Amino acid sequence: MTERKGKNLILLGAPGSGKGTQAAKLTGLLGIPSVSTGDIFRENIARGTALGKEAKAYMDRGELVPDAIVIAIALERIDEADCREGFLLDGFPRTTEQADALERHLTAAGRAIDRVFLMDVPTEELVRRISGRRVCKDCGASYHVTNIPPAREGFCDLCGGALRKRGDDEEETVRNRIEVYNANTAPLVAYYDEKKLLSRINGMTTGPDVVFEEIRKALRA
Ligand code: AMP
Repeated sequence: MTERKGKNLILLGAPGSGKGTQAAKLTGLLGIPSVSTGDIFRENIARGTALGKEAKAYMDRGELVPDAIVIAIALERIDEADCREGFLLDGFPRTTEQADALERHLTAAGRAIDRVFLMDVPTEELVRRISGRRVCKDCGASYHVTNIPPAREGFCDLCGGALRKRGDDEEETVRNRIEVYNANTAPLVAYYDEKKLLSRINGMTTGPDVVFEEIRKALRA
């Protein structure tokens, strides 16, 4: 079955709503890159860059990295050649300022966002999911100790790398990240709904494959 043509997509949702898992599936299906500002910061932290050092202080507290920094790196990334045929934004925009900057930037280039998927998951479930989340230290693939276990405990199915807990996935930081989401990012739901771009995806189905089917349906609509 053919998927819809426009491929400038956004995955919106609280931490732990399954954005990373669905991003990996969608980019595989559509052949477009996923752009995760969180991943870009984690790579910079691992390489010890100035950007990494600056971002880490905010990330460790579960706070947002300031708009000016995030906007610059996200817009620069979507201007790269591999994003020309489309991209999937995972974790950006997270504030109305970021969303406005994204829109201005795309409009100036004669481009636009085609669809925004909201991953809908209740707060109690988010905390439960994040506390069991494990990520591959080499390729960043995401697992859950009970919901999405790897074939071999502690190791990535894709590249064999060791799995570990993210530094900002400790319960107190998680609760702060959810509060930050509700205060800063939740308003983007109405923002994109008014632009008739929003598709609500039930993130509480039986598993990631069922959630992915919903996203595919919304893509074709
Ligand atoms: P994520 O991997 O998307 O959960 O992002 C991890 C952390 O990186 C967040 O808790 C923020 O501190 C920071 N971050 C990632 N993306 C953004 C963004 N769009 N705006 C502000 N901070 C961000």
